[in-house]
Amino acid sequence: MQRTQEYQTLLYACQQEGCPICRLLQESTQRYLRAWQYEHFTDVGIREELRRTRGFCHTHTWQLVHLGAALPIAQAYRDIISDIIEQLQSGQHEVQPPSGSLLRRFFEAKQEASRCPACQQQRKAEERYISSLRQALLDEAFYAQFTESQGLCLPHFQLASTLKLSSTPGDWLARLRKAQLSCLQRLDGQLGELIRKHDYRFKDEPRGPEMKSWQRAAGLVAGEE
Ligand SMILES: [Zn+2]
Ligand SMILES: [Zn+2]
Repeated sequence: MQRTQEYQTLLYACQQEGCPICRLLQESTQRYLRAWQYEHFTDVGIREELRRTRGFCHTHTWQLVHLGAALPIAQAYRDIISDIIEQLQSGQHEVQPPSGSLLRRFFEAKQEASRCPACQQQRKAEERYISSLRQALLDEAFYAQFTESQGLCLPHFQLASTLKLSSTPGDWLARLRKAQLSCLQRLDGQLGELIRKHDYRFKDEPRGPEMKSWQRAAGLVAGEE
C-alpha cells in the first residue's frame, strides 16, 4: 500500500489506547461538530438539512451542548421549534408512533435519509477508515503495529470483516483475523492476571498493565466510550 496520509493516521491510531477506528471516528466527529459550531451553522443548505432531520441525534446534540455551541444551537433548534409550533397551530402535527412498534420500524426505515448529519458524516468516515485499514493490513510494517495494538472493538471488527466496499485485492481478511486473535489473546491473558491478583493471597504481587485491562475489555466488547 502507498503510505498515504490515511495510512499514517491509522498507524498513529494503532499506537494509542483502545480501538483505532473508534478513536479516529471520535476525532473526525469532534472536528465536524467544531466546524459546524464555528463556521457551517450559518450555511443555508446545512441549516435547511438540520431542519429536515429535526436537529442532530441525542448524542451529537449533547456533544454540541458540552462544546458550548450556544448561538449555533439557539438558531438551528429555534428553526425546528418554530416548525413544530406552526404545525401544531395548523393542526398538521405528525404524531410519531411509539418506539418498537412495527409502524415505528417502517417509519424509521423511511427516515434513514433524514438521519442526523453528524451521524451521516461519521458513517462515511467509518467506511473510509475501514477501506484504508484493509489495504494497510497488507503492509508488513502496519500489520506488525496493528498486531501490537489493542485491536478493534467487536462492533468494528464485525464491520471491518463484513462491510461491502469496492474490493481490496489480497487476503486482508485472514490477516485481520490473525492480528485480532493476537490482540484478544493478549487481553485475555491480562484479564486472567487481574482476576488472579484480586485474590488476597496474591495481593502483594507487583501490579502492571493488567490492572487497566477491565476498562480495555469494556471498550473492546462494547466499543469505546
Ligand atoms: Zn471501535
Ligand atoms: Zn448523530
